[in-house]
Amino acid sequence: MFLTQMKIIPLSLLALSLAVTGCGGVEDQDEPSTVSEQEVGTTESALCTGYCDNCVLYARCRQDKLPFGLTYWSDKQAVVNSNHAHGGCVAMIPSSNSYGHAAYVDHVDFAPAPNVIYLNEANWQPNACSSRHGSKAALNIYNFWCPAGAHTAGCAGPM
Ligand SMILES: [Zn+2]
Repeated sequence: MFLTQMKIIPLSLLALSLAVTGCGGVEDQDEPSTVSEQEVGTTESALCTGYCDNCVLYARCRQDKLPFGLTYWSDKQAVVNSNHAHGGCVAMIPSSNSYGHAAYVDHVDFAPAPNVIYLNEANWQPNACSSRHGSKAALNIYNFWCPAGAHTAGCAGPM
């Protein structure tokens, strides 16, 4: 009983933490006007800081090929097409709610094993843009969506 409780307490704390930091917010599944998006062409829009309250919209701002309709975790899982990251891919990360989380992969350090993945993301910290880095396992990444052409001769292919 004592051992069981010792395991339950940290897990519930983790769940509470994820509940706060998971990426909520419903994604507008209508494709936005690319004209109006591009008209904003300022430094601020290049950094995508207008999307710090929505992980998917931020990731799509950084990677405009990211598929639409990624509101729920099941949607995010469904578009996964790579078991490893390259710069320009998007990491799909489970959370304690039904939305899950998406994070843009800025770049990957392939020298260490396991590789170190550098994420830029929105709404992991509530309504903020932030960055993390670590191994796939340490960041609790399920898998990745990568755009066509992301893979290199140096990797074994998407899966
Ligand atoms: Zn690859």
